[in-house]
Parts: sequence; C-alpha cells; structure tokens
Amino acid sequence: MKTDLIYSGKAKDIYATTDDQQIVAVYKDQATAFNGGKKEEVVGKGRLNNLISSLIFEKMEAAGIATHFIKRLSDTEQLNKKVDIIPLEVVLRNITAGSFSKRFGVEEGIELATPIVEFYYKNDDLDDPFINDEHVAFLDLASAEDLAYIKAETRKINDFLKDLFAQIGLRLVDFKLEFGYDKDGHILLADEFSPDNCRLWDADGNHLDKDVFRRGLGDLTEVYEVVLAKLQEVK
Ligand code: UDP
Repeated sequence: MKTDLIYSGKAKDIYATTDDQQIVAVYKDQATAFNGGKKEEVVGKGRLNNLISSLIFEKMEAAGIATHFIKRLSDTEQLNKKVDIIPLEVVLRNITAGSFSKRFGVEEGIELATPIVEFYYKNDDLDDPFINDEHVAFLDLASAEDLAYIKAETRKINDFLKDLFAQIGLRLVDFKLEFGYDKDGHILLADEFSPDNCRLWDADGNHLDKDVFRRGLGDLTEVYEVVLAKLQEVK
C-alpha cells in the first residue's frame, strides 16, 4: 500500500500510496524541541503518539470535525487523506504558558477569559515567526475567508478537546494545529494531535506533555502512556 517516501519530518515520515488521494504517516521514535536544537531517540514514542492521535481524530470525526484521518493501520502508521498543508501553525491558548509567558512577561498558569488564537509562519529556516492575519495575507498563505474559517474551527476544536480532557481530569493549556486543503479545496484538520503539540496539566500541576522532554522533567513515554490509558477509558 505505501510506496515512496515523500517527506521526512521531525516526528513523522510521510509516504505516498497506490491511491493518489491518500498518504501513510509513520510516527517516529524521535523527540525534538527548540526547532530541532534538542533531539533524542525515545523508544515507544511513535506508537504512543499514533495511538493517541488516532483515538482523538476518531472522536473528532464522530463529533463532526473535518479531519484528514481515515484509519489507523498499525501501531505506528496512520492512513490519512492527502492535503496541501497550509504553512501556518495555529496555536490556541486557554492558560498562559511557554512562549506566551516569555513574550508578554506573564507567569504560567493564568486562565485566559477568552482563549487566544495565534498564528506562526511554518518555516524552519525562519524559526517559525509569530505573525498576524495581515502577514498571512501578505505571504498569501490563506484567503481572509479561509483564515476566518480556520480560526472559528480552532475554537470549535478547543471546545471539544477541553471537554474531552476535562473528562479525564486534565486541563488543556494550549495546543498547535495545522490545516490543509483536500483535492476539492475543503479545509481539513491535518498533522497530528498528541502530547507533542499540546500542553496538559493534571490537578496537581504535573505536566503530561512534551514539556517533560523540553524541560527535562522525567520519562516522556511513562507520561504519554498515562495520557493514552486515560483517553482509552473515555466512552
Ligand atoms: N507547539 C508545537 N510546535 C511548535 C511550537 C509549539 O506543537 O513548533 C505547541 C506546543 O507544544 C504548545 C503550543 O504549541 O502546546 C504553544 O507553544 P509555545 O508557543 O508556548 O512554544 P514553546 O514554549 O513550546 O516553545
């Protein structure tokens, strides 16, 4: 089914398939942070992120959110619809943390009255710069109409995910999404949703996400196993 390797990313390899509208994403045992500045092999991470991401995409699809997910093929492989990725990292924040706290000089852990959506230009050479809607127009990344849809969809996804994680006692602090155009020009949620691209805090303030790796707080796979086990309990 999978044929040529078409893209090798930090966390996933993407393969073409015999169907030109489908790709296979292979989740890798590699953890990176700081735009690749910190990089380590983490055995078992590919499986965990594939299982977590597949489970979340399935729940999203059931809730009527349009994603690229077709099905999980194996422990580390997922079959996805082929999309043209929009080079935007769409970040939504419910609680202050990470670069937001640094940039604005505010402590981590402050609940935002209205969740904030941010855009970053997905470009490793430029270190993914922080941009606004006018930069999106200048760079011709998406039309104003498509950007408005992406923003509204991100808030809708947040409502769904915040509730999902609340059911397992976790606070969804922030997350990053990527969207793409399918062959008909429809916008689909793409990439992955895993503890690699969100922040999850438990009631005691423990981090159950990639900050464990970024900040050297403990064993990444142990923490991701906990997230997977909790998600598997949700009906
Ligand atoms: N994020 C991501 N990929 C990136 C940058 C950020 O998935 O290249 C996620 C990150 O895991 C967090 C959210 O986006 O859940 C906000 O990240 P932030 O801007 O605070 O940056 P960081 O502190 O991770 O550098």
